[in-house]
Amino acid sequence: MSPLLELEAVDASYGPFRALFGVSFSLESGSALALLGANGAGKTTLARVCTGLVAPTAGSVRFDGVDFSDRRAFEFARAGIVHAVEGRSVFATLTVEENLALALASGRKRSELAVAIDEAYALFPRLGERRRQIAGTLSGGEQRMLSLARVLVDRPRLLVADELSLGLAPIIVDEVYQTLARIREAGTTLLIVEQHVSHALAIADTAVILERGSVGYIGPARDARAHVGV
Ligand code: ATP
Repeated sequence: MSPLLELEAVDASYGPFRALFGVSFSLESGSALALLGANGAGKTTLARVCTGLVAPTAGSVRFDGVDFSDRRAFEFARAGIVHAVEGRSVFATLTVEENLALALASGRKRSELAVAIDEAYALFPRLGERRRQIAGTLSGGEQRMLSLARVLVDRPRLLVADELSLGLAPIIVDEVYQTLARIREAGTTLLIVEQHVSHALAIADTAVILERGSVGYIGPARDARAHVGV
């Protein structure tokens, strides 16, 4: 069986600036990979390559055995690849439930929408407790949960989680990681870009450490701790 995601010798550039140099790794279906590295090492660029937001200038990206190197971001999304970023994109003047309804309504009948909203509350019980609260008055962590819930209900095949814990209180970071563990159990493959190295390594099977745009380490997550000094 081919890996779910496979990058081979990927280069990427922003104009004349080269950000990635010959990056290769593969990700088995149902596994979790931690993508680590110093600021500016190329983690976000690599995450964008994996979701079609940055096109590789050389090398190949394969998803589920199919060449995605020349595909556009919407085709990645259609294949079930979701890129979740640190920001909180919620409608501040609407309630939690209205936010979920807006995000999840497309393509669903009314009864299916109610089920989807309940699934979001199952993923993040705190959102259920605050379903009538105006989203703009939620804490930063709760807003992050709301924006995550909107994409996780659709059970992505691959979730690329880019610095999801940035700026969150430790207790909320724990909750975000508990949710990631649950959606992984439900079958979503994870690629986690993270500053909270110990959280990411605790959930990951494999780690990739980028150093100035190249792979400095690739191997079991448990052995990566020595490389990042945890
Ligand atoms: P950080 O953790 O600080 O976000 P990172 O490991 O995610 O760092 P990238 O954001 O991928 O690193 O950046 C890799 C290199 O590419 C950096 O030198 C950065 O300045 C450069 N870069 C990133 N985005 C752009 C852009 N849109 N245009 C030009 N250069 C960019």
